[in-house]
Amino acid sequence: MQTHFLLSQNDMPTRWYNAQADLSEPLPPTLHPMTLKPVGPDDLSPIFPMGLILQEVSQERYIDIPQEIQDILRLWRPTPLIRATRLEAALGTPAKIFYKYEGTSPTGSHKPNTSVAQAFYNKAEGITRLATETGAGQWGSALAMACNFFDMECKVYMVKVSYHQKPYRRSVMRLFGASVTASPSEETDSGRAILAQNPDSTGSLGIAISEAVEVALKNEDVKYSLGSVLNHVIMHQTIIGEETLMQLDMAGAEADVVIGCVGGGSNFGGLALPFYRQNVQDGAKTRLVGVEPMACPTMTKGIYAFDYGDTAKMAPVVKMDTLGHDFVPAGIHAGGLRYHGVSPLLAALHHQGHIEAIAYNQIPVFEAAQQFTQTEGIIPAPESAHAIRAAIDEALDAKEKGDARTIVFNLSGHGFLDMGAYDAYLGGELENYAYPEELVQEALSRLPQVEL
Ligand SMILES: *Cc1c(COP(=O)(O)O)cnc(C)c1O
Repeated sequence: MQTHFLLSQNDMPTRWYNAQADLSEPLPPTLHPMTLKPVGPDDLSPIFPMGLILQEVSQERYIDIPQEIQDILRLWRPTPLIRATRLEAALGTPAKIFYKYEGTSPTGSHKPNTSVAQAFYNKAEGITRLATETGAGQWGSALAMACNFFDMECKVYMVKVSYHQKPYRRSVMRLFGASVTASPSEETDSGRAILAQNPDSTGSLGIAISEAVEVALKNEDVKYSLGSVLNHVIMHQTIIGEETLMQLDMAGAEADVVIGCVGGGSNFGGLALPFYRQNVQDGAKTRLVGVEPMACPTMTKGIYAFDYGDTAKMAPVVKMDTLGHDFVPAGIHAGGLRYHGVSPLLAALHHQGHIEAIAYNQIPVFEAAQQFTQTEGIIPAPESAHAIRAAIDEALDAKEKGDARTIVFNLSGHGFLDMGAYDAYLGGELENYAYPEELVQEALSRLPQVEL
């Protein structure tokens, strides 16, 4: 049986899909963190280049991918769509399971799809250095590679706990020429403020974002780059879903359910949004399922409200599902996906009932990762394993109900640099941990009071 569905390089999509064109109502405005009033392009220009700001608010359905970006994407794209026949057999399910494998990119995840585009648009406007945050290190690695390709400097604030737990991700970034600092750091006002309150702070994405945004605000030739959440980032990732649609066609299959893990929402949105277009344009009924950890249950337990993108309240305020901008993830959680918010685009679609969200405890997620490793031979990133868990449970449900549904999930990255987390799992050190409902309610009082 054919298991690999490969497109030729000439078939790589040459435009991105902007789902903003297909929303039933426009997204709520982005607000200035100080005034809490809607921002214009000029308010965002200290942190982002105009090329990306225009994409952020564009209502065009398709945007052409510049040739220079296409040339780099073709180093690893199109990526394969693979039928997981050995996993299907192990589960004894009549369901068909396909996965889109984004771990074939140079740094091992979907993130270079946007890092290359972001570096390109910054370079085009004369920017010489990009500042960013990274948690597990996947985004930092992807941006380090892109900056290196475009002869730009890259400054990465890495969440302190990961900085110490993931020394090899640090090495990857440094090999590409990036400079990596543990966050919170003494280099910025926001880092120093956190350390003054709590010298032992292990950091969070919200804090690291504050440090990187601060560097961009204080230096004219530096801009800030974000690896997820924003509309332009999700749009750059839609190349995943566009390829998948063509590959399912080759396989003679149609997706009944499309699954992705959700941190900020970019790999899930990238896969799912072209299917959303089919749902609204052609009346298809594909279910779109985002999967998150119980330890950071943004869509399943968070509140749909305006909140700051970062802890120090310097990043723009957007309406999203949020656990509160001062959320700090539990140290016991090993599976990534730790951002306090989620893409406003996905949050809106979730709110309107176009997207489902589910959350899993970490032990069943790692069990799914091991089953996938043992059947399909690929060690998944722990983040991606959330999608695997959901795909397995869909396949088991199909078995119980006796239907042969087609399941497609995003294998957003490989886990070769995540052996610390796998060691903890194998050593029986992982515990299930669910973020308490009370803490979400408490965070409500600290959300910005927005009057529009
Ligand atoms: C960063 C990352 C994620 C989570 O980010 P999204 O923006 O939600 O996609 C998921 N999987 C992998 C492998 C990652 O590196």
